[in-house]
Amino acid sequence: LVEVDAIEKRFDGARRGSRQVTALDGVSLRIDADETVGLVGESGSGKTTLGRCLLGLERPTAGRIVVDGIDASDLGALGEAERLRFRRTIQMVFQDPYSTLNPVRTIGATLREALLVHEPRSRDVRGRAAELLERVGLSAAYADRKPVALSGGERQRVAIARALAAEPRVIVCDEAVSALDVSVQAQILNLLADLRRETGISCLFITHDLGVVRQIADRVYVLRQGRLVEEGVCDEVLDRPRDPYTRRLIASIP
Ligand code: ATP
Repeated sequence: LVEVDAIEKRFDGARRGSRQVTALDGVSLRIDADETVGLVGESGSGKTTLGRCLLGLERPTAGRIVVDGIDASDLGALGEAERLRFRRTIQMVFQDPYSTLNPVRTIGATLREALLVHEPRSRDVRGRAAELLERVGLSAAYADRKPVALSGGERQRVAIARALAAEPRVIVCDEAVSALDVSVQAQILNLLADLRRETGISCLFITHDLGVVRQIADRVYVLRQGRLVEEGVCDEVLDRPRDPYTRRLIASIP
C-alpha cells in the first residue's frame, strides 16, 4: 500500500554557509494493507521527517514514495483529482492535537469542515460528524464543545475522528500517545486497534517508546541518524535485536 524507495531528505542550514542536515539518508520501507508498522528511533533520528514526506508535507531530495499507486514524491506534479485522492488516502495524527485543532471552532464544526473538504457535496454532514464522534468513543454532545473543554485523550480522539473523515487507507500517528498518561495511552491504543479491526486501516506508528510499539505494531523499523538499522517482526526485533543501536535503545527503557 505504501512503498518508500531510497528516500533522502536534506535541509539547508538556516544561515548562509551553515551546514546541511541530512534528516533521511536512503530509507526504504513498506506498509502493507491492514498492517500496523512501528517506526522507532531517538530524538532527531528523522522519524517526523519521514512521516511528513509520506504525507507530501516535505518533498524528498531523492528517492520515491508511492501511496496506493500514487507517486507522492512530488505532489506538485499531480493533477487536481489525483492530489485529492492522495489526500484522502493518507492522514496524519500528531502528538499535540491542540496545535492542529482550531481553538475557536467547536468540535462539530471541525469535523463537518473535514468531511466537506473531502466530499464537498456530502449530505447530512451533521449526522456524519456525530457518527465520527461515536466511532472514536465520544458522545454527540462533544460536537458543541471547543478543544479547550476537552482532556488530552479526548482531543486525541477528535484528531483521530478528523483523520477518519477522509476515510483513509493509511494513518500516520506521530507520537500520538506520547503526551498522554499510561491509562489514557492504553485507551487510545485500544481505539486504534478497534478501528483496524473494523476497517482494515493501515498505520505507521511513530514513537520513541518501544513499549508502545510492542503493544500495537506487527513489524517495526529502527531509524538512527536518518538510516534504517534494523527491521522485522516486532517481538523478534525487541526480544532479539541484532543491531547494537537497537540493543542500546531497548536497554535505555527504564
Ligand atoms: P523527535 O522525536 O525529537 O521529534 P525525529 O526523530 O522526529 O525527532 P526529525 O524531527 O525528523 O527527528 O528531525 C531529523 C533531523 O532533521 C534533525 O536533525 C532536525 O534538526 C532536522 N530537521 C527537521 N526539520 C528540519 C527543517 N525544517 N529544517 C532544518 N532541519 C530540520
